[in-house]
Amino acid sequence: MKTGRIEHGWGLAVSLIALALVMPLETTGAQRKPAPKAEVVKPKADQSLRGIVDVRLKLPAGLSGPAYAGLGGPPWVELEQVDDSNEWAGQINSRMVPNGGQKLIVKTTNKRSDVAVGVTVENPLRIYFADLHSHTGYSDGTLLPVVAHDYARKVAKLDVFVLTDHLEYIDDTEWLDMREAAWDASEDGRFVSIPGLEWTKRIGHINIFDPKTRSWPLDLAGFYKAAAAAGVTCKFNHPGNGEKVFNALAYSEIGDKALQLMEVRRPQEEKAYIRALKLGWHIAPDGADDTHSPNWGIRFAWSGILAPGLSKRNILDAVKNRHCYSTLDRNCTLRFKVNDATMGDIIADPVGSVKVMVAVNDPDAGDLIGKIELFEDGAVVQTDESNSNRRRWRTMFKPKPGEHYYFVKITQKDENLMWSAPVWVTVD
Ligand SMILES: [Zn+2]
Ligand SMILES: [Zn+2]
Repeated sequence: MKTGRIEHGWGLAVSLIALALVMPLETTGAQRKPAPKAEVVKPKADQSLRGIVDVRLKLPAGLSGPAYAGLGGPPWVELEQVDDSNEWAGQINSRMVPNGGQKLIVKTTNKRSDVAVGVTVENPLRIYFADLHSHTGYSDGTLLPVVAHDYARKVAKLDVFVLTDHLEYIDDTEWLDMREAAWDASEDGRFVSIPGLEWTKRIGHINIFDPKTRSWPLDLAGFYKAAAAAGVTCKFNHPGNGEKVFNALAYSEIGDKALQLMEVRRPQEEKAYIRALKLGWHIAPDGADDTHSPNWGIRFAWSGILAPGLSKRNILDAVKNRHCYSTLDRNCTLRFKVNDATMGDIIADPVGSVKVMVAVNDPDAGDLIGKIELFEDGAVVQTDESNSNRRRWRTMFKPKPGEHYYFVKITQKDENLMWSAPVWVTVD
């Protein structure tokens, strides 16, 4: 067919012109040629990873080691050459990075040969015990950051510790030392310490986790804005019943992006927690000592943080996503799920009914659970009684259509209390 041929001919001509335009860039001169990429043999792209993961890499001809691999960043693992081949291998602990989509990144001695492969990390959540609020002599507490971190790790045997001296007291040298002490004490897999500060104003006190600066606006609205822009995680401290602090906890959309936690350790603070939730805040309860004495992490309140493993990245990610609960018992674990979403989650898709799972486990046989109360929109809707140190409770019901949030409160027989973070759902 004549016309078809002509069209084909034109198409070919266009292709050749296009190729001619591209080719000089790609093939003239050896330097301009794209460097051959390293090839990730293991794991495969889009693979789901759990636990320890084998990594195997093929380096292009002419490129020698070393080569490093990491899941979206640190911890980096140095790969080792397999015999005398161009293959390099090693193992990555996927529990050290947050669950979800990650890139397996490979760094080689030639940046242009570096590669990244998309994978999914799916590890079960474990529970780590934390104190996210304490002081030293750099503000109105005692002694030094280095002493506090050592005590928190070796005496209190915490998993996670954050020193939060009042930012109004400290100077640049002290702030440098606070950050150094935190990073020096921190060791992924064993103990996580993150630098922190307490913003201390008449309107209320707020903890800031991993701030890049100690300069923050003096007014609350300015603080909310700056904290949201900085992407830090923050906590409302010692709120009383919530009526006299933070403009009676008036809801702020931008503040809601910056604040993820609230100290909830007593029935009084439970009122502030419920008040904040009713006003629309998305926050989790946190237990912390706020100690000003040399007894870091051993007084009366802790946070349980749910994370796949003990690393700085995981802990920062977990508190940002409100995966935590407040506990007056040092070692009692609490898991709370609604329709398979873990505490702190906001379920995006509407649900038809609500399926609740609560698992409380106190390693001390004599520490009896007592009572589990399920709260819907701030009021108790169901109660479970237990006379054991372990209790798993499931319940299911169909709430009224609309938006709801659920959390549980545990009352142990010795009157120790625990509060979970909420799960937010929309019922259709
Ligand atoms: Zn304070
Ligand atoms: Zn304080």
